Amino acid sequence: MLDFLGDLKRTHMCGELRLSDAGRKAVLMGWVGRRRDLGSIIFVDLRDRSGITQVVFNREKNPAVHQKAEQLRNEYVIAVIGTVKQRDPETINKNIPSGEVELAVDELRILNVSKQPPFLPGDAGLANEETRLKYRYLDLRREVMQFNIEMRHKVAKAIRDYLSSQGFFEIETPFMTRSTPEGARDYLVPSRVQPGSFYALPQSPQLFKQILMISGFDKYFQIVRCFRDEDLRADRQPEFTQIDLEMSYPQPERVWEVVEGFLSAAFKAGGVEINPPFLRITYDQAILQYGNDKPDMRLPAMVDVRAALTPEELNELATKFRIHKELPIQLIRIPKAGDISGTERRTIGTYGAYQHVQGPSFVQLMTDPKRFAKDYPAISEKILSFAKIEPDDLWLLAGAIDKPESQAAREQSVQHFCEKCGFLRLDLAQKYAAKHGAFQKRDFRFLWVTDFPMFEWDKTEKRWNPAHHPFTSLHEEDMAKLEANIDSVNDPQSPLGEIRALAYDVVLNGTELGSGSIRIHRQDIQRKIFQALGMSEEEARARFGFFLEALEYGTPPHGGIALGLDRIVMILAGAESLREVIPFPKTARAVDLMVDAPTPVSAAQLKELGIQLKS
Ligand code: ASP
Repeated sequence: MLDFLGDLKRTHMCGELRLSDAGRKAVLMGWVGRRRDLGSIIFVDLRDRSGITQVVFNREKNPAVHQKAEQLRNEYVIAVIGTVKQRDPETINKNIPSGEVELAVDELRILNVSKQPPFLPGDAGLANEETRLKYRYLDLRREVMQFNIEMRHKVAKAIRDYLSSQGFFEIETPFMTRSTPEGARDYLVPSRVQPGSFYALPQSPQLFKQILMISGFDKYFQIVRCFRDEDLRADRQPEFTQIDLEMSYPQPERVWEVVEGFLSAAFKAGGVEINPPFLRITYDQAILQYGNDKPDMRLPAMVDVRAALTPEELNELATKFRIHKELPIQLIRIPKAGDISGTERRTIGTYGAYQHVQGPSFVQLMTDPKRFAKDYPAISEKILSFAKIEPDDLWLLAGAIDKPESQAAREQSVQHFCEKCGFLRLDLAQKYAAKHGAFQKRDFRFLWVTDFPMFEWDKTEKRWNPAHHPFTSLHEEDMAKLEANIDSVNDPQSPLGEIRALAYDVVLNGTELGSGSIRIHRQDIQRKIFQALGMSEEEARARFGFFLEALEYGTPPHGGIALGLDRIVMILAGAESLREVIPFPKTARAVDLMVDAPTPVSAAQLKELGIQLKS
């Protein structure tokens, strides 16, 4: 028989009681966790989100209550009224904050029972993920998950508070809208009242936030759900949360300052002090020095050692190793990891393949510093001091063996070659750096990567596409280049590829946390961009007519950014996957296992929507 709650009121949370409460009456409510039945005494760990208190049922002192307590099972919901007691010294539990006290129970109300759960919140091992997601409500009862979701709340709140303090308004934008391009497929929602028409769930509130600037709100933000129907990679979610913001009249630096401000607040909420301003490098620098547009700054940059050598020395190396001296000769250094074995060194030799990265194959000049010093003593010495190599560092040199023909091909080769070296650098770091103290997860190195290219070549479609989105502004100085090449969307050699965007990414330890840009606020320039992208007037009107029209009514210069909240929380919670910090996530196949979505719908629903399925 279950008890009613009646007018009973809880006096404390389960994690709150302390020694100073000894002697006090308390009413606790929560779940039955670990239970030890010693015959005349029953101990129960009573749990709620704040923690646990040990509650004690004593047959001698209160036989009726003790007898009732014998019915208790895992995850029953109970209320207990009792007296807080200091624990005997030998039973103190130092692992929990309430471990010096226990509650001697005078009255027990069993408020609800529970089926035997498929796994218990206190289990040491983890159930498999499918079971966890199917019984998400039980999974969320686990201490780690409670911690993660609390962290999510704190981080979001810190961001809201910070942005509000800076004069940003949180403004909602519609979920049922028309598609805005962020490069993925849309989730579509059929309209019943207009059969054959569909809403799209937003991939981002991009155009709405720009319109809010046109509307005069000056500073907007939103912690907002976005939807992208992408082919799912391991740790992607079809719906995810962005910290989205936009402001009027900013220089890029102003946007960066705001982001640095709210990230500091967010990280502080997660117990981490960070120190803005973040480092800044251009996209071109990032590629040359890190082989990557989201460099991991926990390791030193690659160094092109050609600058340290005389033409004769350079020739000597180039001839000896058959490498191209017009392309960088990259020195890759992993601090303090020089003590790897000969076998490990030889394995590094095989990395040269890197077949999955396009571009010239490359050869390592050397992976054995002793041998190199013997063969090339003068060069070796110069390189060591130029790249500031310490005696216990692991380092190697990589040069490109292919001979690129044209200038454009050469630049492409530089990029591809550097990208390959970048992979090698990260691979070595993963293998060897961590054990020497570098490359630690909680060593947070933030970075702004700026001046991204405006357009990127799409090999499959054989055309230039926007590298960010088509509303991104270009550098004012690159305007002439745009105008001169406005009709070259299908030309892979077009200088369109050289045009720099006022686009930036904020990067943390090799992961892009967010990206944004200064936008185009002039209708004439927006038109030119569409033209450069090979989009006819009619097509542009059909897709973004409402926006092009809005641009014509006094649009102020504006810009903004969006950062992934899920990833930030994941990092702060020290979690391994986004699914650990999203209360109700989907699987890699975009399925919600708890509610079992997506599902087929009834024939009647389809009929109402005017939709017929192909069998
Ligand atoms: N809408 C962009 C995105 O979701 C961000 C931005 O440009 O502000 O990536």
